[in-house]
Amino acid sequence: MRSNASLAARRSAAIPAGLAKHSDIYIDRAENAELWDVEGTRYVDFAAGIAVTNTGHRHPKVLDRVRQQLDRVTHTSFQTTPYEDYVTLCERLNALVPGDFAKKTFLVTTGAEAIENAAKIARAVTGRSALIAFSGAFHGRTLLAMTLTGKTVPYKAGFGPLVGDIYHAPFPIAFHGVSEADSLEALQQIFRVQADPSRVAAIFIEPIQGEGGFYPAPVSFLRKLREICTEHGILLIADEIQTGFGRTGKMFAMEHTGVSADLVTLAKGLGGGFPIAAITGRADIMDRIPAGGVGSTFAGNPLACAAALAVLDVIAEEKLVERAQEIGRRIRARLDRWAEGNEFPTIGEVRGQGAMVAIEFVTDRATRAPAPDLAKKVTKLALDSGLLILNCGIRGNGVRLLPALTIPFDILDEGLDRLEAVIRAA
Ligand code: PLP
Repeated sequence: MRSNASLAARRSAAIPAGLAKHSDIYIDRAENAELWDVEGTRYVDFAAGIAVTNTGHRHPKVLDRVRQQLDRVTHTSFQTTPYEDYVTLCERLNALVPGDFAKKTFLVTTGAEAIENAAKIARAVTGRSALIAFSGAFHGRTLLAMTLTGKTVPYKAGFGPLVGDIYHAPFPIAFHGVSEADSLEALQQIFRVQADPSRVAAIFIEPIQGEGGFYPAPVSFLRKLREICTEHGILLIADEIQTGFGRTGKMFAMEHTGVSADLVTLAKGLGGGFPIAAITGRADIMDRIPAGGVGSTFAGNPLACAAALAVLDVIAEEKLVERAQEIGRRIRARLDRWAEGNEFPTIGEVRGQGAMVAIEFVTDRATRAPAPDLAKKVTKLALDSGLLILNCGIRGNGVRLLPALTIPFDILDEGLDRLEAVIRAA
């Protein structure tokens, strides 16, 4: 009989222990915001495949569209023999991504690959090599994306030498003692000491840090970055891989700020569970990519394009952007109460935007001393009680809630009830 324990044993014999691992439940099937493991145990899913299934698991419209595609063609490689859906998807992303200018898009397969390509484009088009990112940022695990990522352990330690000419400025988080002015001053310091702005190709920023703990970048800070980039001919690259496709209560998180990036990286929610990612950006930049320098065999695979086109339809038809706002309001109505009263002294802060909400656990609310072990315990107890959540945060003391934007409100409430019981017990 298949059991979680027997699969865990097979896993440790077949798969390296170093592969990132959040749980030991082996999933058998999924439906919208619910999962069932191989032993038949049901879980409310507040992880959404790490912010991927914004339209829920196995949305019928996504499945229908993919089934139709299965009967026509599953793979040819857009590089060798192109097909219409790839073109249509790029047209739709060009129209959706914020920015009052002509845009062009090409498709890749993963978030890290989107980041790699954005960096390559920036270097090739500007003829400059320096890249700047922020502390606490997560941009992926390939060599360049890993170098741009802020945290050393576990993402970079032991994997060097890293890609050269990449620098980090502190992300402005007032509580961590970094004001916007401090962050901007650190950027100027990088310009003075490490990379004159005339040498900087791009600045990468997540409009809301994801793995870092759901810290929104202040709007005034993003505006200032935009000004600096425009002044020095530096490309501003928004990593919307976790924040995109309705998650934050706008189609893209940059829409909360009124600031347009030159290039935007997209992945996760785009395919609704099918691996697909994209780089969308100013047409005048995209048109200067050296011929043949980007692309890959599986990029924009026909099944993934079909899924993504259906995902975009579902987001529009089911008004999932507005629904993300409502989900966020419902979560915050409960969690803000927990964070404000004396009932839950271990909750330091609740933050995020829309249906992207993090809870920070502390040992002492006055000092907000981090309690990473408690955050991990809450995640483990939640799983034991049938709720899937994920940890996050540069201090390791966050828990993130990322339900599908299609989650029925009774299941959302059920998940929040379980979470409340778990926090009380932890
Ligand atoms: N950028 C951000 C903001 C992310 O959250 C992630 C993944 O969590 C990535 C990049 C990397 O994406 P992938 O895991 O698909 O390579």
